[in-house]
Amino acid sequence: MSKILIIAEHDGDTLNPGTAKAVSCAKAITESAGGDIDILVLGDNIADVASQAAAIDGVATVHATSAAHLAAPLAANWAAEIAAAAEGYSHVLAPSSTFGKDVLPRAAALLGVNMVSDIASVDGERSFKRPVYAGNAIAEVSVPDGDTVVATARTASWPAATEGGNATINERPAETEDAGHTRYVGLESGGGDRPDLQTARIVLSGGRAFGSAENFEQLYTVADKLKAGVGASRAAVDAGYVPNDMQVGQTGKIIAPELYMAFGISGAIQHITGIKDAGTIVAVNKDADAPIFEIADIGLVADLFKVLPELEQQLG
Ligand SMILES: Cc1cc2nc3c(=O)[nH]c(=O)nc-3n(C[C@H](O)[C@H](O)[C@H](O)COP(=O)(O)OP(=O)(O)OC[C@H]3O[C@@H](n4cnc5c(N)ncnc54)[C@H](O)[C@@H]3O)c2cc1C
Repeated sequence: MSKILIIAEHDGDTLNPGTAKAVSCAKAITESAGGDIDILVLGDNIADVASQAAAIDGVATVHATSAAHLAAPLAANWAAEIAAAAEGYSHVLAPSSTFGKDVLPRAAALLGVNMVSDIASVDGERSFKRPVYAGNAIAEVSVPDGDTVVATARTASWPAATEGGNATINERPAETEDAGHTRYVGLESGGGDRPDLQTARIVLSGGRAFGSAENFEQLYTVADKLKAGVGASRAAVDAGYVPNDMQVGQTGKIIAPELYMAFGISGAIQHITGIKDAGTIVAVNKDADAPIFEIADIGLVADLFKVLPELEQQLG
C-alpha cells in the first residue's frame, strides 16, 4: 500500500493548480495499489494555503509547517524539510513545474534515491511512463523496491483533482534549520500578474514576427482581456522580446491549456512539442504554408498586426 506525500506549490497566499494535478497522479498510484494521499505545505503563515490544500478531493491529511526560513521556496531549505517529512512515506510527489524541478532533485539526493521526472502515466505503484526526446518516445521507468519514489507529475498530463475534500490539517513543527548559505533576494516573473503558463486555461503565444518587445505588448493587451497566460517561441526569447521563462517548447515549458493561440509562430517541431496536449490550437500566420497550420484546429492566414487590434476591439 502506498503512502504518498505531495509537496504543495504556492506563492504564500494561493495554492498553485499544479498541486491538484499532482494529486490526480497520486490517485492513479493509489488506484492500483491502495493507500493514502497527504500534502505538505511549507512556508511562513500558510494557514490559508493549508485550507486550500485540505479542500482538494482525495487528500487525507495536510501537514502545515510554518517557519521563517521556509518563507520562500528555496531548494536549499525546503529540500531538507521535505526529506525530514518524507519519513514513513513510500512516495514524494511534486508538480513538474519550475518549482518541482528545482526542489525535488535535492530532496531525492538527501533521501539517497534517484528521481523520476515527468510522470505522464502510471503502470503500477513503482512503474511509470514519461516522455523523452521531446515527447517523440515514451520511457518506462521503474523504481527499485525499498527506495522512496521521488517524482514530479507532468502537469500537462494530469487534470487538476476537484475540490470537495475535507482533509485534516496537522500543524507540523519544522525539523530543520536555515541552511544559511543561500539567501532569497526576490522574484522577477516574466508573466507579470497573468495566470501561470503551465496551469493557465488559455495561453496566447507570440513568435519572431512581433519584431520587438514593444510590439509584443499588443499580445499582453489581448491576453489580459481573456485572462490568459502569455508564452513565446524560442526565436522571440532569443531576440530579447520576452524573458526566457515564457518560452514554450522542447527546451521551454510543456503546457496543456484548453485553448492555445499562436501568433506569428512558424510551428517548428521544438515548439510543437510544448503544446502537444493543448485542447484547441488556433494559429495566425501570414504564410499559408507555415507548418503550424498542420496541427492547428483553427488557422487564420493573416497579418497578426491586423488581427490583434481587431480581436482586442471584439473583446470589448
Ligand atoms: C535543440 C533545439 C531546441 C529548441 N527548443 C525550442 C523551444 O523550446 N521552443 C521554441 O519555440 N523553439 C525552439 N527551438 C527553435 C525552433 O527550431 C524554431 O527556430 C523557433 O520555434 C522559431 O520561432 P518562430 O516560429 O517565432 O520564428 P520563425 O520560424 O522565424 O517564424 C516566424 C513566423 O511568423 C510568420 N510571420 C511573420 N510576420 C508575420 C505577421 N506580420 N503576421 C503573421 N505571421 C507572421 C512567418 O510566416 C513565420 O511563419 C529549438 C531549436 C533547437 C535546435
